[in-house]
Amino acid sequence: MTSQPVLSKPIESMNSFDIARQQLAIVADKLNLNHDVHEMLKHPKRELTVNFPVSMENGTVKMFTGYRVHHNLTRGPAKGGIRFHPETSLDEVRALAFWMTVKCAVVNIPFGGAKGGVVCDPAVLTRPELEDLTRRYTTEIAIMLGPDEDIPAPDVGTNGQIMAWIMDTYSMLKGHTVPAVVTGKPLAIGGSEGRIEATGRGVVTVAREALQAAGAKISGSSVAVQGFGNVGSVAALLFHRAGAKVVAVSDVQGAVLNKRGLDIDALLAYSKRTGSLVGFPESEPMPADALLTLPVDVLVPAALQNQITAQNAAAVRARFVIEGANGPTTPQADIILRGNDVTVVPDVVANAGGVTVSYFEWVQGLQSFFWTEAEVNAKLEQIMVRAFAQVQEAAKEHRCDLRTAAYIVGVGRVAEAISARGIYP
Ligand code: GLU
Repeated sequence: MTSQPVLSKPIESMNSFDIARQQLAIVADKLNLNHDVHEMLKHPKRELTVNFPVSMENGTVKMFTGYRVHHNLTRGPAKGGIRFHPETSLDEVRALAFWMTVKCAVVNIPFGGAKGGVVCDPAVLTRPELEDLTRRYTTEIAIMLGPDEDIPAPDVGTNGQIMAWIMDTYSMLKGHTVPAVVTGKPLAIGGSEGRIEATGRGVVTVAREALQAAGAKISGSSVAVQGFGNVGSVAALLFHRAGAKVVAVSDVQGAVLNKRGLDIDALLAYSKRTGSLVGFPESEPMPADALLTLPVDVLVPAALQNQITAQNAAAVRARFVIEGANGPTTPQADIILRGNDVTVVPDVVANAGGVTVSYFEWVQGLQSFFWTEAEVNAKLEQIMVRAFAQVQEAAKEHRCDLRTAAYIVGVGRVAEAISARGIYP
């Protein structure tokens, strides 16, 4: 059993950035991290807040606030998604940027960590409003962007179309086409095969490795997936195809349950047609938060952060939690889950498939030489399997949980890069 970390604040009152720093403190202690490196990693390298106007279709002008944060660039250009969400904040974006630094290092791809966000609800914007907002936000943060500087990608509330507008806006500012400035773009403008599915595919690969390590297998196991966006829907489909029984899934409108297993192909078609999972014929409705406490083998939180908390962690009955979302488990919940022998595969490994194929897309864009889907998937598989094995190895060596182990691997690599480069001047 590992010693329990002392928490400096009542955790449930912490915001995501407090939580990220707490996670860093736990690993700094474990790694005996150099004090100066710890101080550097506590602070994002640079942060930009922009307030900008958008002309709305009803003739009014509305002000929006956006952020772009570079956490640490020691290992390469800044990499990380852009989120459009009504509740995003600078602290949330800082936390997400920090997690990107760790995530890129865990899968050992040559990027630093970044994140961006605009406080908005894309669901209530018209398409022209969304395009204008995206283009103006891109223009406002363009001083930070570039294929060697900072490469955004999709995150919560954004998609390939939004990446296309970002790429086009940046290219217009430069006067020539710059495909490698964003990833997660449509194939027609230099996107990569397999990028849309990459995060969900990585989640299932890592779940398979975690189950295998415990002498279990995906085929025949029961799975619940919170979130039916890009990550959750692909993960649910690939679990289903691998022979798992996906008994419950949820979206923002509610959850559906079928104890014999949902037909995910049919559910995808239904949600595409109706815009929701609710009312799917071969299922019964269920309160969305009840999904987290179902007696399943595998629980995949693939929605937002802070879903498994001190309030509900003791009621989680899954054997494995595979974090498709960023930051879905609070540190207090981590302690409770560990006490109950629940294996948590942390976000920085579990959902790293997305940024891994972003890396492939960036490389393909820089070389103007494109790979087949089979090549992309094979290389993704290699990287995910290697990353999980290295994290598991670190967990054994340091006798710790997988989150701490992933931070040992990731933060350890960043620290090594910082010490090799030294402090300028
Ligand atoms: N937003 C995704 C993440 O959190 C992808 C980031 C990227 O591809 O740059 O990992």
